[in-house]
Amino acid sequence: MPAPVVVIGAGVIGLTTAVRLAEAGRDVRVDAELLPADTTSAAAGASWDPYLAEPVHLVERWSRETLRVLLELGTDARTGVRLVEGTHESRVPRDMPAWAPWVDARPCDPGVLRPGYAEGWRYRAPVVDMPTYLAYLVDRLTAAGGRLRRHRHSSLQEALGEAPVIVNCTGTGSRALAEDPSVEAVRGQLVVVENPGIGTFFCDDTPDAEELTYIYPQSDVVVLGGTSDWGSWDLRPDPAAAQDILRRCVEVEPSLAGAPVVGHRVGLRPVRPEVRLEAEHRDATLLLHNYGHGGAGLTLSWGCAAEAADLLRAAE
Ligand SMILES: Cc1cc2nc3c(=O)[nH]c(=O)nc-3n(C[C@H](O)[C@H](O)[C@H](O)COP(=O)(O)OP(=O)(O)OC[C@H]3O[C@@H](n4cnc5c(N)ncnc54)[C@H](O)[C@@H]3O)c2cc1C
Repeated sequence: MPAPVVVIGAGVIGLTTAVRLAEAGRDVRVDAELLPADTTSAAAGASWDPYLAEPVHLVERWSRETLRVLLELGTDARTGVRLVEGTHESRVPRDMPAWAPWVDARPCDPGVLRPGYAEGWRYRAPVVDMPTYLAYLVDRLTAAGGRLRRHRHSSLQEALGEAPVIVNCTGTGSRALAEDPSVEAVRGQLVVVENPGIGTFFCDDTPDAEELTYIYPQSDVVVLGGTSDWGSWDLRPDPAAAQDILRRCVEVEPSLAGAPVVGHRVGLRPVRPEVRLEAEHRDATLLLHNYGHGGAGLTLSWGCAAEAADLLRAAE
């Protein structure tokens, strides 16, 4: 019988890792201070998009594996994953990203670009209703025999006695819990509006753009972004930032003008020089770290979960 596991953290990284381990036959419990609906993961837009995460070669590998899984999940509406067509557009000429061929991205005709944009590419990508998706992951965890409990660990030392294997998936919480000062919060704010009939996504992909502008249609709402505020841990929506997001999104998609606002979301991207995915032995406990996924936690989730499971097998 494989050793029981406690996963700390119930965001997309903790839940995906827990599902992966539970479905491989492990006894898994997830401990989390914030339940899934209250995490940064629930606040995310979200689409498959390798943004703000390092190192490049591993991000490519992990995001490719995640794309494969999300494309499968996108065939079942209950997962919250949908395959949506849309464009990334840039205000200046630029090369397509390295991942463009994986999603069969093709250049847009200049005539169909949004006003002010010089280049763009069109493709189909997984767009995810994160609250629904996280609930789906909890159901999958439960179906595989796993459990979720609300519990804050004040230190990793305290957590070590809980199980022979501990997996640390605490996102920005790792700054304190893993005593890792290289973890920074990059605050992101979104506005949710009623969907006036938008069926395609849009993302401004201008290199070094000062503002982050994107539009992700869910079924009855549209998620509008965004901000990227380095070093801010403030979870309160900023009304001025919300107005600015609306202004920028209406500029590229005039049909959004006047769409009733139904919510505001704020989350803290766990940015680190590199994702930390490694195992260490502490006393009799095997401690696995899986955190620091920056602006791409959804995009890297299944790739990192598979690698965490491999690391665990190799380290035991
Ligand atoms: C506005 C916005 C838009 C985004 N859009 C996208 C996108 O389109 N695509 C994409 O891939 N990514 C996107 N991201 C990034 C993505 O949301 C993050 O990378 C991801 O949520 C990180 O997941 P996580 O599970 O590591 O952390 P979190 O979701 O923050 O979860 C951390 C968990 O750890 C728990 N925890 C922390 N400390 C402790 C402790 N001491 N004891 C117990 N539990 C603890 C928390 O309570 C929580 O349950 C976006 C982020 C934001 C803010």
